[in-house]
Amino acid sequence: MVTRQIYSRGVRDSLVLRTMKATPRHLFIPEYLKRSAYSDRPLPIGEGQTISQPYIVALMTELLHLAGDEKVLEIGTGSGYQAAVLSPLAKEIYTIEIVRSLAEGAGELLKTLGYDNVTVKWGDGYEGWVEHAPFDCVIVTAAPVQVPKALIEQLKIGGRMVIPVGSFYQELKLFIKEKDGIEEESIIPVRFVPMVHPTQSIPSSSP
Ligand code: SAH
Repeated sequence: MVTRQIYSRGVRDSLVLRTMKATPRHLFIPEYLKRSAYSDRPLPIGEGQTISQPYIVALMTELLHLAGDEKVLEIGTGSGYQAAVLSPLAKEIYTIEIVRSLAEGAGELLKTLGYDNVTVKWGDGYEGWVEHAPFDCVIVTAAPVQVPKALIEQLKIGGRMVIPVGSFYQELKLFIKEKDGIEEESIIPVRFVPMVHPTQSIPSSSP
């Protein structure tokens, strides 16, 4: 997976390649899909959600330029796989998931597997996580139509945010927060599940 799908497409950060090799992706997907765990595509993880294609996980991770001492906020915990990939590369990972069953499942799995620097919360990612802000990096794995204001506010000066933006046509973007503004770079076209508002999801599964 790492050589054919990730290195071949240009991801070169050796620490990112190492964590992609070490993270057991098959443990984050449903039993019936285990045989496809390392294939070159996203996979369903229940509740109509998906775990991203391995290459996209690696690319987004590389774009954060982690050195090891960062506090990272992830929006869209899903299966917990992206958080597991980030875990050895940063100091603390805070991750928010709006679907309760996914948040609880990922929280338990990450704990069982010993990813002790990852904290999962069931909640609305549009609000960020004020108690732990500011963050060195923010990674969003569901697509909003516009960049959520709270996430920019909770990013440190010099901090990096990787986020897919758009509705049907989405672009993966990198934002770097500077003292006097925000630098923006478009990376590649992507297709993520939408970042929903609590009122858009089923009431019983909303925080
Ligand atoms: N990073 C995940 C994949 C995420 S799929 C992994 O590695 O498996 C996107 C996830 O974002 C879904 O689980 C979806 O429920 C969640 N999501 C959508 N809108 C959200 C919101 N407003 N706040 C938090 N999570 C949200």
